[in-house]
Amino acid sequence: MQLITNIKNIREELRSFRYNGKTIGFVPTMGCLHQGHLQLVEAAKKQSDVVVVSIFVNPKQFCEGEDYEIYPRTLEADMKLLEDFGGVDYIFAPTVEDMWPEDNETLVMVPSLSSILIGITRPGHFEGVTRVVAKLFNIVQPTKAFFGEKDFQQLTIIRRMVKDLDIDVEVVGVPIYREEDGVAASSRNVFLSPEDRIAARVLNQSLLMVEKAFKEGEKDSQKLKQIGISKIESEPRAKIETFEILDAMSLQEVKGTITKNIVILLSVEVGSVRLLDQLSLEC
Ligand code: AMP
Repeated sequence: MQLITNIKNIREELRSFRYNGKTIGFVPTMGCLHQGHLQLVEAAKKQSDVVVVSIFVNPKQFCEGEDYEIYPRTLEADMKLLEDFGGVDYIFAPTVEDMWPEDNETLVMVPSLSSILIGITRPGHFEGVTRVVAKLFNIVQPTKAFFGEKDFQQLTIIRRMVKDLDIDVEVVGVPIYREEDGVAASSRNVFLSPEDRIAARVLNQSLLMVEKAFKEGEKDSQKLKQIGISKIESEPRAKIETFEILDAMSLQEVKGTITKNIVILLSVEVGSVRLLDQLSLEC
């Protein structure tokens, strides 16, 4: 496992693999790695000859007043976790100066998908994500790139960016990983107090209630939404930012009877921590 901290070196390292026809699997992360990230790494290892994990806390995707300064940076522990998981070929952990020199100004945006849902509460966030992922794709030039379905809107936006810009990479979505209490693994879980951690279970509980009702035949989106929202509102520590039932392809709201595959997107503030969750349901 090799740690590489600048763009030039990772390019040089990867060039010969590509030349020799090896497939490169890429897992972009912001570090503070956990079991959720390891699901992506596992998929990458199974499907690629060479695996690159990037660790970069990207300032461009944090909005004013968000937690950029205090976002956990745990490179040594991350490397140990990956090592214990059988290792990867490269950890690419560039500096902010290398990624974003002062004269860097080119934007990459998917406006319609980035301005809805989480884009409303986090203006500019997805523009920062597409900008950094486009740049990382150009640096690593992976065969396949692995993203979590937990961040479903992000995954949809990346797929769209790849399609629109004809980037030669296959985007692979990896199912959400949950801890034993049902809470989706997240780097931000470290900020939850013990009480908030218990309260955070309500996200998954509400999704399970919606899933049960759906499987028992309830297809009215408003009724399903009400079931889910009531459950979350029963938890005083939780404040809903987004609870939407959406067409899984277009992310447009599904009104009335559900006739297509849907995704339920959840963004809930528990204490002062924003938690995301997601459930896909096939019609
Ligand atoms: P982050 O470090 O939070 O930017 O996440 C890096 C990647 O890991 C993203 O593609 C996330 O969607 C994915 N990820 C984070 N948490 C989970 C989880 N609990 N299950 C699956 N994937 C996850």
